[in-house]
Amino acid sequence: MSKDRIIEQVWALKEELKDQVVILGHHYQRDDVIQFADYKGDSLQLAKIAASEKKPHIIFCGVHFMAETADMLSSENQSVYLPHLDAGCSMADMAARNQVDDAWEKIQAATKATVTPITYINCTADLKAFVGENGGSICTSSNAEKIISWALNRGEKLLFFPDQHLGRNTCYKLGVPLDEMVVYDPLLPNGGITAKEIEDARVILWQGYCCVHQDFHPEMMKEIKDKSPETITIVHPECYFESTQAADLAGSTSYIIDQVDKAPAGAKFAIGTESNLVNRLKGLYPDKEIISINQKEERLCRTMNLIHPVHILKVLESIKLGKPINVLKVDSDVTEKSLKALETMLAL
Ligand code: SF4
Repeated sequence: MSKDRIIEQVWALKEELKDQVVILGHHYQRDDVIQFADYKGDSLQLAKIAASEKKPHIIFCGVHFMAETADMLSSENQSVYLPHLDAGCSMADMAARNQVDDAWEKIQAATKATVTPITYINCTADLKAFVGENGGSICTSSNAEKIISWALNRGEKLLFFPDQHLGRNTCYKLGVPLDEMVVYDPLLPNGGITAKEIEDARVILWQGYCCVHQDFHPEMMKEIKDKSPETITIVHPECYFESTQAADLAGSTSYIIDQVDKAPAGAKFAIGTESNLVNRLKGLYPDKEIISINQKEERLCRTMNLIHPVHILKVLESIKLGKPINVLKVDSDVTEKSLKALETMLAL
């Protein structure tokens, strides 16, 4: 089938099933996928939409952990579909439940202090359950400051996983000095840190990262600023600490979109986030000059980009036939524990 024919069929089936199906699309999706989204957003916005959506079928054009979260927040009679089951998140894969259990045991043995675990929403459901079981919360890049501040006021120490950069950047912004943060690497014996380092630290960061966002560097920003000092550099908090410090602004995907949206015509931006979003912003705001901070290569989320219109078509056809495919169902025990942490986040 030609690409045009596939797109035509998706539109036709979407119309036919409009009372039963809602399509959610993350901002990093390719244009030919995001065009079908009834709602676009970042992880927090899409999680909130999933929690309030009433239609029985939710097709989630995002990655695995996002569809899992939507399943946990939706009701029993709703089904959540991930159009391509290999669309995972490499950062989420950097923390496994057994590794976090192991780290937790070591941390508890090293200190008598109260430790609050916070997980970035980019993690598997059983890690959301872990924080739910241990009195912690989930956060997204949009609400990290609020959630981390709650955790820092609540306990003496913080364990943050899986993204070390979001944890470090946010804690630093909230006033925690860098020398009060240590990194726990699950691939090293004892996490690569001593019991004393755990005891002395206020924040224990997990050695995880996003390979897309680690590719925007201070020297790239300097080069852009040297040629065009008025260009505003803006990066996502999953970027290196040095990059967030060098940039004029740093914030979540929604924050970046908002800054571009409210800037006057003629404003210039160099953005450090996923390329599909940067390219879309260029098209949406032709009166502003928008470039990527990484001028050498596109920084695409490889797994998010596995989803093509044909995968949405297959899911829609399966719903029509009553033989659904690619349904994500999280175990009820894991859901119950995770919901505690998700509800803490949504309440905060
Ligand atoms: S951009 Fe990075 S953190 Fe986001 S889904 Fe892709 S790999 Fe995961």
